[in-house]
Amino acid sequence: MAHSASVPEEAPRAGVVEVASLTKRFGDVEALAGVSFRLEPGTFFALLGPSGCGKTTLLRMIAGFEVPTSGDILLDGLPVADVPPYRRSVNTVFQHYALFPHMDVARNVGYGLRQRKPSPDRQEQQRMIAETLELVRLTGYERRRAWELSGGQQQRVALARALINRPTVLLLDEPLGALDLKLRREMQLELKQLQEQVGITFIFVTHDQDEAFSMADRVAVMRDGRILQDGPPEMIYEHPVDPWVATFIGRMNLFPGAVETNGPDCVVRLERGRHVSCPVPPGPAPVGAPVLVAVRPERVWMTGATDRTERIGVTDAIDSADAADAADGPGSSGMTEPRFGGRLVRTVFLGDRVEHIVDAAQLGTVLITAGNTGAAAAAPLPAPGEEGVIGWTRESARIVVERQVAGIRH
Ligand code: ATP
Repeated sequence: MAHSASVPEEAPRAGVVEVASLTKRFGDVEALAGVSFRLEPGTFFALLGPSGCGKTTLLRMIAGFEVPTSGDILLDGLPVADVPPYRRSVNTVFQHYALFPHMDVARNVGYGLRQRKPSPDRQEQQRMIAETLELVRLTGYERRRAWELSGGQQQRVALARALINRPTVLLLDEPLGALDLKLRREMQLELKQLQEQVGITFIFVTHDQDEAFSMADRVAVMRDGRILQDGPPEMIYEHPVDPWVATFIGRMNLFPGAVETNGPDCVVRLERGRHVSCPVPPGPAPVGAPVLVAVRPERVWMTGATDRTERIGVTDAIDSADAADAADGPGSSGMTEPRFGGRLVRTVFLGDRVEHIVDAAQLGTVLITAGNTGAAAAAPLPAPGEEGVIGWTRESARIVVERQVAGIRH
């Protein structure tokens, strides 16, 4: 396979992982369709996407278990196409721990040391095993067998076994998938701490957004064998590149419309006639272009039509839901701080938060979420079935545009 990247000899590349235009076909299935990224040493990189989007295939190619159809993988600046899996400075932790049942914890963890040529002497092996077990908080468990450990402990042994040779990159394929939710949360924190401690690049596969966001410095959102967006969690959440990413990551209200003017604000005429003003999007949004105004449910507020001035943050009152619907026109606060009449259809109690479903004549169904801050801080909402006013600040809205990406299955 051709290696096209030109590598200046003096460039420090130790620990750098590069993937360039990687594709993989299994017969008719295009599992990966041109994936590229470069990871600096010590990055915690999450591959996040729905089932079948190509996450595991990508990981298996970096590990060397699958051969790419085209494209390059470089570890420490060197192409690894001809390097077999066991010679790559890569280790993998799978969802199912695959510990050797006939070995105790210490022998499982030390396995990689015994495979080295030459392998460290016995004393050095014992020192390294002890050090690695301490890292995963399993000191004292050296003589246990896999069946004498809990799921979380087995996964820690698998981590220790994968880390002992200090690979350039640790690949983790849904390693917490078999654990219950509480343990999973604990392990996410531990894993992040562990990664910071060892400073090794982690590439972590998951379809769980919370998991990716809680640990990763960078998240690649994948769909149909492509990376649609790659960036820090905050960037992906706040500035999704398209409606699919906007709704795959968290929840999003999407209101269709067309661009009326673009600059200094982007003013959109919504399908049902009202205008809203939004920050100008980074991509092209020419006048007349169909777009979606995207607003996160936690950024939408609601207040009862008669009591709205008490809502935290609302200072200028609106006399009625009808007036809210009428507020419009260039320069009016109704456009820059959009307000709409809406009927509270249902409130769903979820413990730490509540969800409100609102039916707004000018918008359709709107989802609002609010933290459960206790009765004292609760906003004066209308009763279910009654009218109120909903709105958001101009800065909360994003313009997202449907993209035609070749090969994406809509
Ligand atoms: P999941 O989250 O369900 O594990 P994934 O994102 O890891 O999914 P992959 O396992 O990489 O997805 O699969 C990507 C696509 O390639 C899927 O359509 C899958 O059916 C296909 N695929 C994967 N391995 C093979 C194979 N060995 N032969 C044929 N098709 C395959």
